[in-house]
Amino acid sequence: MIEFHDVQKYYGQFHALRDINLEIDKGETVVLIGPSGSGKSTLARTVNGLETIQSGQLIVNNRDLSDAKTNLNILRRDVGMVFQHFNLYANKSVLENIMLAPRIVSHVPEAENKKAAMDLLDMVGLADKAQNMPSQISGGQKQRVAIARSLAMKPKLLLFDEPTSALDPEMIDDVLQVIKQVTSASDMTSLIVTHEMGFAKEVANRVIFMDAGQIVEDDDTKSFFSQPETQRAQQFLSKII
Ligand code: ATP
Ligand code: MG
Repeated sequence: MIEFHDVQKYYGQFHALRDINLEIDKGETVVLIGPSGSGKSTLARTVNGLETIQSGQLIVNNRDLSDAKTNLNILRRDVGMVFQHFNLYANKSVLENIMLAPRIVSHVPEAENKKAAMDLLDMVGLADKAQNMPSQISGGQKQRVAIARSLAMKPKLLLFDEPTSALDPEMIDDVLQVIKQVTSASDMTSLIVTHEMGFAKEVANRVIFMDAGQIVEDDDTKSFFSQPETQRAQQFLSKII
């Protein structure tokens, strides 16, 4: 589903992603961790073309992102992204936020679109907030709406960039439960940047540890947490857990 081959990414002179080689298969739930500034967001953002790469090859859902001719809008229909800040449309209701992309991008008939949106709201536990404006719901609820919105396009791949780090502690669990539910669908592929190590252990089949723009470890979840191979990962875990 995702293939990086010798990918390099620069911001000007700054070498942000170094020699990235990574393959993520359909159905995997991969957690990406590492210190601040290590390149996690940059890596996640390259996957749906929000950041360009300077060399190497990047293939996502059979589309070659290293080829400038690749149509990013078509790619992004299949790739949902959920950010730290939910980026809901402030002037549209919760329900409208979810219905917008299917209506405009996929021309889904209105009744069908509404039913699907209500089903998604039900799944994230917010059917009763359908008519609220984003300003009238809590941060955790906004993030659950953002997740429902990304699912409305029926993505094959979901990217999460610290989806709970802007939330009050008591809201985090509800959001993590929703993420757990959507990422555990057998045909869903997910890449999750998170600092929630307990959650990572629970949902991920694989952990990637980055430092200074490089992938330092790429291991199954159990091995990573029980015996990280590098000193750098050991240090990181000893600080964070
Ligand atoms: P955090 O955990 O703090 O979110 P991160 O691992 O997500 O960190 P990135 O946001 O990917 O880190 O940034 C990696 C490096 O690239 C950092 O040194 C950052 O300063 C730099 N960087 C990120 N975005 C830009 C940009 N638009 N222009 C220049 N440098 C950037
Ligand atoms: Mg980041």
